[in-house]
Amino acid sequence: DPVSTDERPWLKRYPASYPSGFEPEYANLAEVFAATVARDPDATIVRYFDFDMSVAQLDAASDAVAAGLTDHGIVKGDRVALYLQNIPQFLIAMIGVFKVGAAIVTINPMNRQRELAYQLKDSGAKALVCLQSLYDVAAEVVPDTDVALVLTTSELRYQTRNDQRVLGKSVDVATGGSDLEEFIERYRGVAPPAPQIDPEDLAGLCYTSGTTGEPKGAMLLHRNLIFAAQNKVMWNQITPTDAVYAVAPFFHLTGLINHLFVGMYAGIPIAMTFRFDPIVGAEEVRDKRLTLTTGPITIFIAWLNNSSVKREHLASMRQIASGGAPVPPQIVADFEEKFGKYIQIGYGMTESSAGTHTVPIGMRAPIDPASNAISVGLPVFNTMARVIDDQGVPLPPGVVGQLQVEGPGVIAGYWQLPEATAEAMPRPRCINTGDIGMMDEDGWFYIVDRMKDMISASGFKVWPREVEDVLYSHPAVREAAVVGVPDDYRGETVKAVVSLAEGKTATAAEIQEFCKAQMAVYKYPRFVEIVDELPKNASGKILRRELRLT
Ligand code: AMP
Repeated sequence: DPVSTDERPWLKRYPASYPSGFEPEYANLAEVFAATVARDPDATIVRYFDFDMSVAQLDAASDAVAAGLTDHGIVKGDRVALYLQNIPQFLIAMIGVFKVGAAIVTINPMNRQRELAYQLKDSGAKALVCLQSLYDVAAEVVPDTDVALVLTTSELRYQTRNDQRVLGKSVDVATGGSDLEEFIERYRGVAPPAPQIDPEDLAGLCYTSGTTGEPKGAMLLHRNLIFAAQNKVMWNQITPTDAVYAVAPFFHLTGLINHLFVGMYAGIPIAMTFRFDPIVGAEEVRDKRLTLTTGPITIFIAWLNNSSVKREHLASMRQIASGGAPVPPQIVADFEEKFGKYIQIGYGMTESSAGTHTVPIGMRAPIDPASNAISVGLPVFNTMARVIDDQGVPLPPGVVGQLQVEGPGVIAGYWQLPEATAEAMPRPRCINTGDIGMMDEDGWFYIVDRMKDMISASGFKVWPREVEDVLYSHPAVREAAVVGVPDDYRGETVKAVVSLAEGKTATAAEIQEFCKAQMAVYKYPRFVEIVDELPKNASGKILRRELRLT
């Protein structure tokens, strides 16, 4: 299509070196990796502590995974869940799954039984690859699901420098399932399957709650993920001399695209971080001469506030990107002053396969004089963005409304939820984000608020509905509402306001403990307030917004 710059004013702001569009180069992600293997099999693709893995080694190990999964009845169209930290096995297993033509289901390793059970059942996963230390959690819920094969593995497997600051005490107490490495050795050399995989086939399910409270599997197709990776590589002009500091969690789209897919696509080293420690992380960037990273702003705030982390640590970095939550302009300024590096802001959501907006390399995000908001960037290649009113009608520049995005990154919909899909997506490849924003005359976008109730704690998303469901299951709780409150470090954190059932007693601390036992650690309410009555509107609906303000 000819693209008009009247409709897309941002095109005028693109650096001259940018193409105005491009076509996906590959049909599926297995092909993306095969091209990388053909280009340079000896290139290092994984770095984890002192361990390095070449593209050819990754190819052989993932072939074995694919052959083994096939032998266990996993076929094209099936789902395989990954319940793992950022370790090399994530990439090995993931590529193995792609070679089978199956889809990955990425599960946050902080998730507890309730959350894991939900995602395994909802996705219908047939196999699970999990961290050995999470096996106890998995073993409790797996019997009630379709999972017939559990492969376990350890964060200690590929590392020799046992760094307690990052690995903590070894927690490899749980045993069970089949050992992933034994599995790989057993199937090493066995020919993997060669299914026909199309761009429209499902490659992954990432759970998110979208604009409403129910967790839903965002259906990521091969073409979505290839587009996202290719986009990122081209936008940032990534070359074989780059190397990624992989600090964002792989289960989330941010880590998946910006670390794993970029590494896979460009054939560059992915330095994996099991757990972020500011000093170890900074030393790793310096010693391995890493050049790119994308992470939640809390990582960069931690570097900023740590006096042992110096300018020289980050000297090799040429791109430090952040998004997922509002990025305070003061942090960008202070970071640049301390390290001489400008944080590149971006915006995106799981449903758009990560970034739809970014600040081009070498440019600076303008600040809107009226709202004082810093821009989240320009729409990326082939991506249409607009601000719409309540009826879905596009609004002119400068007017605030809901941000809508459209393009090849937008998911096919929510897994087995046609109604939720129709609600969020007015047409294929187009989604209403639930974020409130504005575009200026030059095509720069700004996010000023959100319509959805989501809370973003360090970029980890918490949906009030999910926490409220747990609160309501407490015998003493009559009514509950969960809201986000400002937090210096996390940006926002979770607060619960509850009223108690007649004749029942409970303390705030008890209610907090009750929640903590049933959810990932970033979700439980840091504050619990017990009140007589929750504020409601005339029809009895709890007014979360009012609670946010108190
Ligand atoms: P997720 O699906 O976890 O990636 O969450 C996506 C949501 O994160 C968006 O809909 C926004 O509400 C929020 N978000 C992402 N990037 C930004 C940003 N740069 N500024 C403000 N909010 C953001």
